[in-house]
Amino acid sequence: MRFDGRVAVVTGAGRGLGRSYALALASRGARVVVNDLGGSLFGEGADATPAATVAEEIRSAGGEAIADDSDVASEEGAASVVGAAVEAWGRVDVVVNNAGILVPGALPGLRPADLRRHLDVHVVGSFAVTRAAWPHLVAQQYGRVVLTTSVGMFGGGHLVSYATAKGACVSLGRSLADAGRDHGILVNMMAPAADTRMVTDPEFRAQSGLPPLAADHAPDPTRGPGQAAPMLLLLAHESCPCTGEVLSAGLGRFARVMWAETSGIVADGLGPEDLLARWDAIVDDSSYVVPASTSDAVRAREARIAGARGRP
Ligand code: NAD
Repeated sequence: MRFDGRVAVVTGAGRGLGRSYALALASRGARVVVNDLGGSLFGEGADATPAATVAEEIRSAGGEAIADDSDVASEEGAASVVGAAVEAWGRVDVVVNNAGILVPGALPGLRPADLRRHLDVHVVGSFAVTRAAWPHLVAQQYGRVVLTTSVGMFGGGHLVSYATAKGACVSLGRSLADAGRDHGILVNMMAPAADTRMVTDPEFRAQSGLPPLAADHAPDPTRGPGQAAPMLLLLAHESCPCTGEVLSAGLGRFARVMWAETSGIVADGLGPEDLLARWDAIVDDSSYVVPASTSDAVRAREARIAGARGRP
């Protein structure tokens, strides 16, 4: 699979997973905007070096890349990431929203400001960068957009802000997928896993109650970011087989993550006691639907109700 003639923007590409995505796209012919604010894992500070280093790495391997150190959480920063691509190469085809921060935090200490920081980077950032690219994608009736969620979307009491933001990225991506369906724009989510600083950072491990890594800890290539990149390449390519899906990728494993609704029960006039009595049937997951969108979920619900009531 090649990306010759295609232009990609990858946010948070100065390190970790984003760097491996940018290198993989460039090695297959894409021209790449390497965006990275260069902050700490906790979202503090800024440094233009990580983005510049990765862009230089691509160019010295014979590829084409531009470094951009904008903050995707700001509307102007998000617009300038896409603006850099359009100014240099006149188009944008692939948008990879990968930038992220992770500050562990639980109630009662967690403050609304901590939640807002995560929503700003992960959700508002992904929205703002995609929004800036959207008119270009619609005009060319072609686009591939990837948002980054996490196993965090399943919820974690010690990661409330991060988990909330990652859950919101799924609904954002699925909404964009629905909006892009008639325009040749496919939008999917990566739930990656890799031993980046997001997992190995000593302060993060201490705050999360994880044991410190051994002093002689050596990176394991089977757990590196490059292991997730093949799924990113597929989702970013013309031959991407899906839209609105969440794909888990990394550590040598690839899988689909789904939000599903059980068939449930259909009955009128029940009280809470009846619901308790029929609990097993309500939550029985031997029969379920995986809706593609809100309207699809409504259609499936109406069909289930009509079927149970014996209506056509
Ligand atoms: P990382 O910290 O190595 O890389 C994230 C990069 O994003 C950093 O270089 C950082 O400077 C950049 N960034 C942060 N805020 C930014 C902003 N506002 N604007 C521009 N750049 C910004 O972490 P990683 O593990 O490579 O994570 C990449 C993505 O994958 C994140 O969205 C993360 O939540 C997600 N993820 C990672 C894992 C994992 O196992 N590593 C698991 C699930 C999800």
